[in-house]
Amino acid sequence: MKIKPITLLCSVSLVFITIIACKKETTTTTTITTTPTTGTSGVPDVYKKIYNASDMYVDGNFLVIKVTSLPDHKSPYYQGTQWASTKYEAYNGTNPQWSQNPNKIAQSNLTFRIPLNPVAATTHAATPGGPIGVAINGVPIFNQYAAGGAPLTGEINSFDQYYGHPQQQGQYHYHAEPYYLTATKGKDALMGFLLDGFPVYGPNHGTTAVSNSDLDAYHGHTTATVDYPNGIYHYHTTSVDPYINGNGFYGTAGTVSQ
Ligand SMILES: [Zn+2]
Ligand SMILES: [Zn+2]
Repeated sequence: MKIKPITLLCSVSLVFITIIACKKETTTTTTITTTPTTGTSGVPDVYKKIYNASDMYVDGNFLVIKVTSLPDHKSPYYQGTQWASTKYEAYNGTNPQWSQNPNKIAQSNLTFRIPLNPVAATTHAATPGGPIGVAINGVPIFNQYAAGGAPLTGEINSFDQYYGHPQQQGQYHYHAEPYYLTATKGKDALMGFLLDGFPVYGPNHGTTAVSNSDLDAYHGHTTATVDYPNGIYHYHTTSVDPYINGNGFYGTAGTVSQ
């Protein structure tokens, strides 16, 4: 039997469509089996400045940072702990009002998940009590309030010579400039990250001292830094209230769990 040209054309078209369909299906399968980058090898260089984490890895769009909260520097608050023989140091700071609080340093395991690509939030959430960020030595950063939202005025007198102290459960933390880090890394160095993924720098921007009036309501500004030559929003510590963060997170915060 003789095949009509129109029928032949349809048959060829059908075969062609089938090939396209098969190809498309293969592509889809490949996409599904692709896994997100995980492991220390995927951690961007800037985060490697966090030198005292117990673990750190990329999980999708987040950096996971695990810490013990134990400061790598000495403290009067190591007195009476298992680390006292090597880490205890009597107060030798400059505050004549110094008054040690009754707490002792204890290990406090924390897991921070901070966005790898921080973005400004449309609604700036207030910072919670407890950890709001992490310093490069694995010590949590707290906000500018004492328990109950009171100003830090009284609590400051219990800050040790490195400007941190433990809370009732022994979790050591900084509310202000971490003196050990500015002494060892520099006044203009990267101090850590808040939960929104934006970096925290010391009291200097380059060689210039930063004051509250140089910063916005969240205690930061957007310019280039050594670590971010193309510019980034970043917080600075200052010697007066609110010290590290102002009216809440500039960006959308990640999470911290205990
Ligand atoms: Zn405190
Ligand atoms: Zn700056």
